[in-house]
This record gives sequence, structure tokens and C-alpha cells, in this order.
Amino acid sequence: MKATDFDLSKDMNFDIDQGITSFKDSRLVIFDANSIGLLRQMLIETEGVEKARDLFLKFGYQNGYSDFLQMKTNYEFDSEMDLLASGPVIHTWEGIVHAQPKEVKVDPVTREFFFTGVWSNSYEAEQHLSFYDHSEDPVCWTLMGYASGWCTAFWGSPLIAIEPVCVGKGDDHCEWKIQPPEKWGSEADVYIKAYEKFWRK
Ligand SMILES: [Zn+2]
Repeated sequence: MKATDFDLSKDMNFDIDQGITSFKDSRLVIFDANSIGLLRQMLIETEGVEKARDLFLKFGYQNGYSDFLQMKTNYEFDSEMDLLASGPVIHTWEGIVHAQPKEVKVDPVTREFFFTGVWSNSYEAEQHLSFYDHSEDPVCWTLMGYASGWCTAFWGSPLIAIEPVCVGKGDDHCEWKIQPPEKWGSEADVYIKAYEKFWRK
């Protein structure tokens, strides 16, 4: 199948008798975005922005990594590139953001990995701005974590997604860029610190 053939609505299961909603063998729980935004705000207020960011980056990373394993295990994609591209597709189906790939330069032989795209309607930027003014740094922590986790699971070695452009900074959309840690400068330090424990596994 092509990445764009994926349809989450066909593969979700609602077991009303048991109170269990699932996608393949993952149990899903549905929370409204405002409640997650409130949790995010409470963590920022109680733990500080750096700790809150670290936790949400890790949360997103684990979510992206798990989703990748579900997709790889349960679907036959036409190519490895379709498997990679199904990440933005499922991210969009989950209602987290509308993710549109832009530039993909991935070569397993030379080990080049460079992947960019546009995020629109990020729930996290919306939630951030419902509590705070524009930030100096990108605010879509779970999205960056998700993209990092997804791509690292695909690639088999660490990759980091950072938003050079983010609605939370006052831009009219968000953009992601994913590449290995060594290709980034010091702006990647907080992300490396957040994901290191996953890379050591
Ligand atoms: Zn953003």
C-alpha cells in the first residue's frame, strides 16, 4: 500500500462492552485537547518550562516510536519510503496536526537522512497560545518528539526533529526538519538530552 492509503478509521476498534478502544494491538484513550493543554500548563507552572519540555519531548518520542512499530508490523507498504511517509499520515489521522512532507533526501547506502515538511493546525501550538504569549523557542514539543521517535525507529540510529518555524513563535505555520544529531548545532542540545536514554537501549 501507499502511505496515503492508510485509513485509521477503518482499523480502530471500539469495544463498548469492555470499555476498550484500540488500534491493532494498542489500546487508545481519547482526551480532549484542552485537557492536555491544561496538563501541559500545570507542568510548566509547577516544574518550569525546561522540565515540562523535556517530559513532553519524551512523551512524543515514545508515541512516535510505538506508532512506527505498529505500522511496520501491521501493514505491507510498497516501499521503505512509503513506510517512512506513513508517519506524517498517521500523525494527521490522530488529529494532532496536519503534516505535509516537503523535502525527503534519504539514502540507506550513504546514510544520508534529511526530511522536512510543514505542520498546520498543531494542537500543541494552539494550546500553548491559549495560555501564553509567543515564545522565543518552538513550542510543539510532542510533535518534535513524535517525529524524532518515528524517524529514529525507521532509521535505526538517532535522528532529531526541530521546528525552525512555529506558530508558537508567531509564524503562521510550523515547519519540521529532521537530521542526525551531528548535523545540528547547539540548538539540538536540549533534544539530545531528552532522547539520550532511549538511544542507549
Ligand atoms: Zn509549532
